Amino acid sequence: AKTLGRGRHHFFDVGLRERMQRRLRMEQDLRDAVHDGQLWPAYQPVVDLKTGEMVAVEALLRWTHPRHGAISPAEFIPLAEESDLINVIGKEMLRATTRELASRRANQGLDLTLKVNISTRQLDDPHLVPAVQDALTSTGLPPSALCLEVTESALMRDQEAAGEVLAALRSLGVLLAIDDFGTGYSSLAQLRRLTLDTLKIDRSFITGIAESRDAEAIVTSIIAMAHAVDLTVIAEGVETAEQLDLLRKLDCDQAQGYHLGRPVSAAELFGTQ
Ligand code: C2E
Ligand code: CA
Ligand code: CA
Ligand code: CA
Repeated sequence: AKTLGRGRHHFFDVGLRERMQRRLRMEQDLRDAVHDGQLWPAYQPVVDLKTGEMVAVEALLRWTHPRHGAISPAEFIPLAEESDLINVIGKEMLRATTRELASRRANQGLDLTLKVNISTRQLDDPHLVPAVQDALTSTGLPPSALCLEVTESALMRDQEAAGEVLAALRSLGVLLAIDDFGTGYSSLAQLRRLTLDTLKIDRSFITGIAESRDAEAIVTSIIAMAHAVDLTVIAEGVETAEQLDLLRKLDCDQAQGYHLGRPVSAAELFGTQ
């Protein structure tokens, strides 16, 4: 038992050290990635359910590592959020995507809204609002063509502070969306107070709607609640034609998901210019 115990202890230490080393390495790699241009925006179409037309695109960060290939944002965004890196990356993402969309609008006449994700940590950054303003003025993208997505959990963490930042962003004329809705616990009153434009139903609720009565009931009530406070509703993670048909019947406004289009480079989605 003694040897076993020591073995376990040893095993644990090695595992922990390896995890920490991996994280440190990844953080350094991420710093390099920012400087070497390994980060790039993919764009996923958002489709209007009445017309079937693409009305918006969501910019999603991609990291192509020189040795490890594609690394998921679910893995590196939390890492970036532990340091100031997220603010640097977030600002660059805003600049690059507003520039791309402004040029597509001017050269190809594409009338699309650009959706950009804003992390919890960026909401605390005093430079966020000027950075958004700067991205708009330097590219000429109309403020009403930019929608910033903030997760429900980020908004509920410190409601007063979040409310102030959102008000400042709103005064620039940009649109605001609550992302991953249903994973937190916000009330109708809180939603109304935040004066948002769009509500995105989390993929976890969309996955089951065609099979489960419960999931369908939840989505139905989220849509009714959102419409009651004049929010446009987007369903994310739509993977099948059945889900899409059902969402249309449930009066959902817009949808996004692999069934409609995967996130791809600007050149792949809009063509080379
Ligand atoms: P999110 O904002 O909820 O973005 C939607 C995620 O769902 C994306 O994952 C997208 O590729 C994926 N997705 C879209 N349609 C489907 C579908 O039909 N099925 C499935 N299974 N997945 C689908 P991705 O690109 O891996 O991004 C993950 C998360 O990383 C995002 O979740 C967002 O929270 C964060 N993220 C991505 N880009 C940025 C960024 O530029 N800034 C910040 N702060 N966060 C970002
Ligand atoms: Ca999002
Ligand atoms: Ca989402
Ligand atoms: Ca999500």
